[in-house]
Amino acid sequence: MFSIVILGGGWAGLVYALELRQRFPGTDVLVIDKLTRLGGLLRSEIVNGFTFDIGGSHVIFSSNREILSKMLNFLNNGFVKHERRSFIRIGNALVLYPLENGLYALPLEDRVEALITFLEAQISRMADWKPRNLNEWIHGFFGKWIAEKYLVPYNRKVWKRDLGEIDVDWVYTPGRLPIPNWRDVVKSAMGIITIGYSEQAVFYYPSIGGIQSLYNGIAREIQSLGVKFLSGYVIESIRRVGDEWVINGKIKARSIVSSIPLNELVTYMDAPESVIRSSRRLDYNRVFVIGVALNKPAPNQHWVYVPSDDVVFHRYAWISNYSPHNAPRGRSSLLLEITIPRWETVNEEDLMNKALRDLVRLGVVNEGDVLFTKYWLHEYGYPVHTIESNRARDEVISWVKEQGITLIGRWGCWRYWNTDKIYEDIIKRMSLKP
Ligand SMILES: Cc1cc2nc3c(=O)[nH]c(=O)nc-3n(C[C@H](O)[C@H](O)[C@H](O)COP(=O)(O)OP(=O)(O)OC[C@H]3O[C@@H](n4cnc5c(N)ncnc54)[C@H](O)[C@@H]3O)c2cc1C
Repeated sequence: MFSIVILGGGWAGLVYALELRQRFPGTDVLVIDKLTRLGGLLRSEIVNGFTFDIGGSHVIFSSNREILSKMLNFLNNGFVKHERRSFIRIGNALVLYPLENGLYALPLEDRVEALITFLEAQISRMADWKPRNLNEWIHGFFGKWIAEKYLVPYNRKVWKRDLGEIDVDWVYTPGRLPIPNWRDVVKSAMGIITIGYSEQAVFYYPSIGGIQSLYNGIAREIQSLGVKFLSGYVIESIRRVGDEWVINGKIKARSIVSSIPLNELVTYMDAPESVIRSSRRLDYNRVFVIGVALNKPAPNQHWVYVPSDDVVFHRYAWISNYSPHNAPRGRSSLLLEITIPRWETVNEEDLMNKALRDLVRLGVVNEGDVLFTKYWLHEYGYPVHTIESNRARDEVISWVKEQGITLIGRWGCWRYWNTDKIYEDIIKRMSLKP
């Protein structure tokens, strides 16, 4: 019997295992994952000398210095530091991200309109104003011009939901949508360059092996601490027998920590019908990632957000600029990201071809530049914080907690969290409860 079994060996599962073993070295820990090649969303693949992060463009950043330094330590100095060069594509113009700081690049009439409507929003907001949904939050903080030209179409494209149905709890997470500083906005509209959103103004990336190296770094550390792994093992049933847990009728544990998707977890636990019904309301988008290898160098850009709804992807990232080892010399590579609502089926080949056509139409590449492409579809890409889904999440989590299971990570907690926020949450829990 194991003291603790961790369900899911993605980033969250490994962070939990590490922090646990460092605090309680004698604890017997097993991590189980259904994948044979571990890494969850942090997996990378090297194809013909090109490194692709198959879960989409991932970079390392955090406003929490302690967490950032823990993460960089896993890379053992094997990382590249970058000053972010990201853009938003408004029409044919590339405006420096975040838009409220890049306004200076827009034509004068647009700058004036953006500034006037931004200031109108600040003046008309009451001190006790509370946005009820994402649509209100965007208009209330950014004003009509920035909302209509960028934030509303972009968020509609990522979430594929009516923004009036999306809760605002996640936007207050550090590193998510930051509230703009009005002084920055005025300066930028007047033509002065400002930085804004400083926690991601600098980011880090592994020198070799793509984002998977971050995962491999922590995996090496916990293996050296004696944590056991069981990979290629699908969890299908979790039962309480006396004072122990039994997984798939075979593996026994005193306690369980879960990072696997919450909606699936409760079906393995024989939960009451009311909990299963709530779990079906947990909302999410799949993510389709396309890697494009190119026979030409990359421009001086990291990633570009594309709000326009006549382009199928919402972001393209020049991943070859993240590390010189990500592509052969003189060549470059892109990652394109497309979200797909959980209920929609897609023809992957068609979607990839459409994305390539859009890329050519935007003038980002010429057809003749493309050496090869590859794509990956992930069932779980983005938890969608609809008001309805958040309510369901709280109901399901409260039942799972009553059973004595600890929930961690993006899918265990059903929150739109990045690696740093997941780490922070795990440390917070451990400090509260040994
Ligand atoms: C497009 C995109 C871009 C992102 N960019 C960034 C970024 O720049 N920086 C950043 O910090 N974060 C980024 N993230 C977020 C980051 O990927 C996640 O926060 C993190 O990887 C989540 O880790 P996790 O362990 O919670 O989930 P996962 O990585 O999904 O791990 C869950 C694990 O559970 C396993 N599992 C599921 N069901 C079962 C079962 N029944 N039996 C056994 N095992 C099971 C899965 O195989 C998986 O390995 C991005 C995410 C996406 C989608």
